Amino acid sequence: MFDPSEHRVASPLDWLDDELDQLRAAQLGRSRRLRASAAGPEIRLDGQQVISFASNDYLGLASHPNLASAARQTAERFGWGAAASPLVAGHDEPTAALEAELAAWLDTEAALVFGSGYAANVSTITALVGRGDVVYSDETNHASIIDGCRLSRAQVVVYPHGNAAWLADRLEAPSGHRRRLIVTDSLFSMDGDVAPLESLASLAQASGSMLLVDEAHATGVCGARGTGLIEALGLEHLVDIRLGTLSKSLGGVGGFVAGRRSLVEWLVNRSRGYIFSTALPPACAGASRAALALVHAEPQRRTVLADRARRLRARLAKLGWLAIGNDAAWASQIIPLICGSAEAALAASRALLERGLYVPAIRPPSVAPGSSRLRVALSYLHDESMIERLLSALAEIDRPT
Ligand SMILES: *Cc1c(COP(=O)(O)O)cnc(C)c1O
Repeated sequence: MFDPSEHRVASPLDWLDDELDQLRAAQLGRSRRLRASAAGPEIRLDGQQVISFASNDYLGLASHPNLASAARQTAERFGWGAAASPLVAGHDEPTAALEAELAAWLDTEAALVFGSGYAANVSTITALVGRGDVVYSDETNHASIIDGCRLSRAQVVVYPHGNAAWLADRLEAPSGHRRRLIVTDSLFSMDGDVAPLESLASLAQASGSMLLVDEAHATGVCGARGTGLIEALGLEHLVDIRLGTLSKSLGGVGGFVAGRRSLVEWLVNRSRGYIFSTALPPACAGASRAALALVHAEPQRRTVLADRARRLRARLAKLGWLAIGNDAAWASQIIPLICGSAEAALAASRALLERGLYVPAIRPPSVAPGSSRLRVALSYLHDESMIERLLSALAEIDRPT
């Protein structure tokens, strides 16, 4: 018999198997479940029909027929691929129109679309600061902000989560740096709480620092017109650099930066992730424009969602499941239920899956060790009966203490 293990030659990549074994032993291994249906509140996952509380499709637009048909129509006219960077092969009309609509929506002079929100953060931060500059970054900022800070070669000062007073102390004295940038998520992706944007905006103003606010999870959700938390707090004129994504509430793919015209012109000239990367297919812009039209025409998607989030948070608290961010300025649709160890979070997630509910366990490095959690992400498309099923399942399973 041929036994492959006997014939294996040592390879310089063998460390991969050792490291993966260790990850799995620490309950930190990750694997992908196969989804055999469109994104939505009910999906088919690894052959099981489940109610999903896992997606960032907060407004339920990812599978809306208007997006698919807009993509199809745009693809029929413009073809599929963009063929090169927008600086090389031409800035296609659908993307240009989307940028104009984003700028009008956010009431900024201009906007620029990137291939992803990840690319938008890395590309923007590295274009704004470099050696001799300093970035102040919240400790729970998204990985794309962290990576942008690291790549920029600027000095990075990580401040305690949401702690504007700590930052005020640091910003008081002139730092001797050429430029200073404060960067924060507005609605934090894993904690579901919000940044003290008002304080950060006045600190930025007082210290002459630039301020970049990443609205990835707030775009489409917060504010009367749905542009984000900046709008909800009335801070439009105090935030210089507004970043959002087309891939969460807007149901598609891509990221964007909005602000003054010179900001966009600078990024077109200096941002490596824009210059050296192929543009998104024009059809993606077509779909995003259809999503924006729905955000304008159907404000109930965000108001119903906000109302449901508030009520679910209150009911979870009654069950003894304390979520982060219940008393925040915005009771958000991201509801993290802290379990503690990675093992406890996995066990809770498995117990829910046995009951037909998919609520992912979030573990390090996405969150700090000891704060592993279930992350409940609500969507406009979750109806009352789905929420009742989640609540009764959570009442049944052992709540980690
Ligand atoms: C998801 C996310 C991003 C990245 O956006 P993509 O479009 O998914 O690449 C950036 N910032 C934050 C805060 C996010 O949550």
